[in-house]
Amino acid sequence: MRNTCLAGVSPTVDGDPPGGRYDRRVSSPDERRDAIAQAAARARGCGRCPQLAATRTQVVFGSGDPDADLLVVADAPGREEDERGVSLLGRPRRVLDELLRETGIDPAAVWTTTALLCRPPDNRDPAPAELERCRAHLLAQVELVAPRVVCTLGTVATRVVRGVAEPILRVHGRTEVVELAGRRVRVLPVLHPAAALYRPQTLELLRRDLARLPGLLALPVPEQPRPVVVPPAAPLPPVAPDPAAGPPPDGQLGLF
Ligand code: SF4
Repeated sequence: MRNTCLAGVSPTVDGDPPGGRYDRRVSSPDERRDAIAQAAARARGCGRCPQLAATRTQVVFGSGDPDADLLVVADAPGREEDERGVSLLGRPRRVLDELLRETGIDPAAVWTTTALLCRPPDNRDPAPAELERCRAHLLAQVELVAPRVVCTLGTVATRVVRGVAEPILRVHGRTEVVELAGRRVRVLPVLHPAAALYRPQTLELLRRDLARLPGLLALPVPEQPRPVVVPPAAPLPPVAPDPAAGPPPDGQLGLF
């Protein structure tokens, strides 16, 4: 497991962060990379949203460190992301990276994706049905990367991850444990860094909320849902001989 922090979270002797090893579905790093590559290939051929499939340059799958303890979810690709095939670029990315570094988190050790993997034409808001269809691709990434913390940027990403429609200004900075892809994970909603570009007050709120990440990454992983245990089937009672069938034929030992 890769330690996301440059400082502030001390690895234990065996290299795991405090709080123990997170049980990843694909535990081998090589197999995890293969599984992520397969999930990306499936997404790149996705045509569930016909309008987006017809207008996108490409599907923008997540990228970063497949062993990340921190997974960042933005809203949807814009023009630059659509052209280059990478999530969250330009000035919002630079702001986020700078604020992560301030907290001691290495931006290269983070997995970044978007709630919608295709650019909406003219940068319109993603439609609820599109977000619903694309949620499977997001959950696949959460399942394979298996982060300790998911940080959602802005209203759209936060709504998709939490499954509740609330304005980001009401919920930013409030951590909660959310079950995603069968695993309980800490979620930290924050303001979108694009909103902080021109407003110093918003930048300060974002900085304050992101400063919580090292502490969250250091917490023990949340208690996980219990797997459903199917009790072994009770042995079938012996079948009583059918008196109407009469005695077995001569020479047959009654094995059948
Ligand atoms: S937005 Fe998501 S679900 Fe819709 S076509 Fe693109 S990859 Fe598929």
